[in-house]
Amino acid sequence: MSPGTRSVKDWEVRASTLARKTSNPIRRIVENLNVEPNPDKEFIALSIGDPTTFGNLNPPEQVIQAVREAVELHTSRGYGPSKGHLEAREAVAKYSAHQGEITPEDVILSSGCSHAIELVITAIADAGQNILVPRPGFMIYKTLAEGLGITIKYYNLLPHEQWKVDLVDLESQIDDDTAAIVVINPSNPCGSVYDKTHLTEILEVAARNYVPIIADEIYEHFVFSGQTFTAISSISKDVPVLTCGGLTKRFLVPGWRMGWVIIHDRNNVLGKELREGLARLSTRILGPSTLIQRALPSILEYTPQSFFDEVILFIENQAKMAYKELLQAPGLNPIMPQGAMYMMIGIKMTSFPGIANECQFLERLVAEQSVFSLPGECFEYPNYMRIVLTVPKEKLLEACQRIVIFCKTHAVTKERRKFVDITEVVSGDVEVMCEF
Ligand SMILES: *Cc1c(COP(=O)(O)O)cnc(C)c1O
Repeated sequence: MSPGTRSVKDWEVRASTLARKTSNPIRRIVENLNVEPNPDKEFIALSIGDPTTFGNLNPPEQVIQAVREAVELHTSRGYGPSKGHLEAREAVAKYSAHQGEITPEDVILSSGCSHAIELVITAIADAGQNILVPRPGFMIYKTLAEGLGITIKYYNLLPHEQWKVDLVDLESQIDDDTAAIVVINPSNPCGSVYDKTHLTEILEVAARNYVPIIADEIYEHFVFSGQTFTAISSISKDVPVLTCGGLTKRFLVPGWRMGWVIIHDRNNVLGKELREGLARLSTRILGPSTLIQRALPSILEYTPQSFFDEVILFIENQAKMAYKELLQAPGLNPIMPQGAMYMMIGIKMTSFPGIANECQFLERLVAEQSVFSLPGECFEYPNYMRIVLTVPKEKLLEACQRIVIFCKTHAVTKERRKFVDITEVVSGDVEVMCEF
């Protein structure tokens, strides 16, 4: 072909299947919502799962200082081993001793916890296999798996039982192609915390069916007063557990992208192949940031317990305040969390006859009250919304009060409810009230 006849159309550059099949459901759903706030009211976003957004929550000085010191080291600038520097892996092994016996060889550093999740999913499942994920649950699993042809199957959590796993449903979802069960504890979006008894029940299902567990413990230790965090790996007798964690949430540094996978395989059932596979996969990005790796031993060793305690106390108080406010909203059913940074709120759609679904509920809430939160659809769970508890106290209070006003404006009152019920019965069109 002579250069003169070349045309733009001759460039047949296509996006790969992986690129085309990868999507982030939260982005997609939020982009499709009409989020136009009321210009007369300050916009308050209860939707952003990044605790640094408002500047009210910051890592302690020790953590900042550790990075300051690391930046001066010439060894913080070069490549490290793709699994991470030994000193950093040793520090993670020590910090994670509550999970069980760990050597640095069991640790692979990653670029944030989501990269840890990508490593374990791609190491353990092939196209055509499936991974079981909680519903409601965190959507990164879908984003990571689907483009690779790995199916995400859901098992139900029980909202009336503090979001415990529906064990019967979990077991019924397992088939010959199930590569792993994901357990997110404490949970995003539910804020639930599982005790030893319940974790043991989950392990029994996994053991009976010979399915390994992927434990998403990015919120480890992030539990409110009266709750205890138990690492599922620490009580597993024979089920192999791949734990994904990192600095992101507990140390309030999501942008630093430091996470890790810890392999718990007491009876060596995963074998060398999976360990080596994980190590091989880690070479795809030549390892995570060495700057943060160099700071990691100090960060993990010297962050004072008082810092963690203060952050958790703040979020627990936020949860209590939001819960108390929202109880006054007709048609809403807030579920008090036990840990993490979020609260799920049930929306009795039958109380809002003028509103079609929870997405429309949230669109109208923004349009009238300038408050935005994520619809349950983002977590495969309609008729709920998730609010983030890390926003500054005054903003959260104001937002909750506006949600209450919104609900009082739009919910049918008891008197009208009776009338609506009667007319529904008369018209033979009885709608079953959602039980919350
Ligand atoms: C935030 C979050 C992650 C991702 O953490 P990064 O370190 O930012 O990649 C993973 N799992 C859950 C449940 C989360 O909430």
